[in-house]
Amino acid sequence: MMENVEYIIVGDGYAALFFAHRLQKNHKRFRIFSEGKRSASQVSAGIINPVVLKKFTTFWKAQEQIGYLRKTLSEIESYTGVNYLINENIHRIFHDEKECNLWLNKSENDDLKAFLSPEFELVDGVKNPFQTGVVLQSGRLNVKGFFHDLLNYFEKEGNLIREKFDYAQLEGETYKEYAFKYIVFCEGMGVLENPFFSFIPVQPNKGHHLTVRLSEPLSGKYTLKKKHFLFPLEDGSYYYGGTYDREQMHLKVDPSAREQLINGLAEFYPHDFEIEHIEFGFRPTVKDRRPILGSHPDFPNYYVFNGLGARGILNGCFFSQELFEKIENGKALHPEVDLKRFL
Ligand SMILES: Cc1cc2nc3c(=O)[nH]c(=O)nc-3n(C[C@H](O)[C@H](O)[C@H](O)COP(=O)(O)OP(=O)(O)OC[C@H]3O[C@@H](n4cnc5c(N)ncnc54)[C@H](O)[C@@H]3O)c2cc1C
Repeated sequence: MMENVEYIIVGDGYAALFFAHRLQKNHKRFRIFSEGKRSASQVSAGIINPVVLKKFTTFWKAQEQIGYLRKTLSEIESYTGVNYLINENIHRIFHDEKECNLWLNKSENDDLKAFLSPEFELVDGVKNPFQTGVVLQSGRLNVKGFFHDLLNYFEKEGNLIREKFDYAQLEGETYKEYAFKYIVFCEGMGVLENPFFSFIPVQPNKGHHLTVRLSEPLSGKYTLKKKHFLFPLEDGSYYYGGTYDREQMHLKVDPSAREQLINGLAEFYPHDFEIEHIEFGFRPTVKDRRPILGSHPDFPNYYVFNGLGARGILNGCFFSQELFEKIENGKALHPEVDLKRFL
């Protein structure tokens, strides 16, 4: 017996789950296929950040994206009972006087004054001789809670199927026992195995992070940033990461990334620390740094949602709505994110 659904979603990362939320909110019938791997989204730091912390600039629609994420997370809270937003700001440790002056100048720019606090803060327990700049409106997602709860919620509702989607069994608008209207592929770097969308130009960027135990835990409630991000986890350990690497694509931990992280942390954390764990994932990145959304040129009901890059949370949340509006109401996609730019 065929079962009718409106949507099939392939994948279970930020792209898939934020899109599934749109469907949930709009009372659509859907199924999510999850192969159950810990990929980029689940190893991500969860940082929500409207600023590029190398150059102190912002990016396209940052304010809109932050506002939209807050709204979405409170909608999700209405059915999981938990708000996954951790309102702890990023404190960027300055390297030198020059950076302090650059930050101060930039904090007067119209597009940055809502994000760069002109008041510097000295942080206890780490080396910060030039103090830190606070990124206003920044925060973190409770990544572990978000995935654990949402995946369980969708499973309980009968909407999550814990198996790998087998492309060979997709025929027109049917997949195994399902007849669907639309299929949305959200596989991150797994898209390379997808016979319909493997042509999209996403490139893997491998990121490692450490879980560490600090011998002298930090007292403040914030995320520290120098080279990489450092923040506390629920069990008293700390997350430090992630690295960026376009070269080493093997499926093992890179000793050089480990080294880079240890040195990066030792640069500003003056006490001993113990490494508990090291993990990595592959960010799906695009040369023009914009996500990729749209339908297949020959199969108009087949959609892709990918290329979230280093900003999986903000991009995944914001552009899931844009894709939903395109599919349901024919609303045009922004050309900057439309798959058509590559056709
Ligand atoms: C170390 C690190 C730190 C990061 N930190 C941050 C951060 O702080 N903030 C931020 O916003 N972003 C961060 N990112 C980036 C972010 O993680 C990515 O942009 C995001 O995870 C991409 O999400 P996605 O859903 O497109 O892909 P993925 O997370 O890769 O998810 C795709 C999922 O689809 C599944 N899948 C694929 N093919 C199939 C199939 N055939 N059947 C079933 N399932 C399938 C895969 O198993 C995978 O779980 C970080 C990334 C890394 C690696």
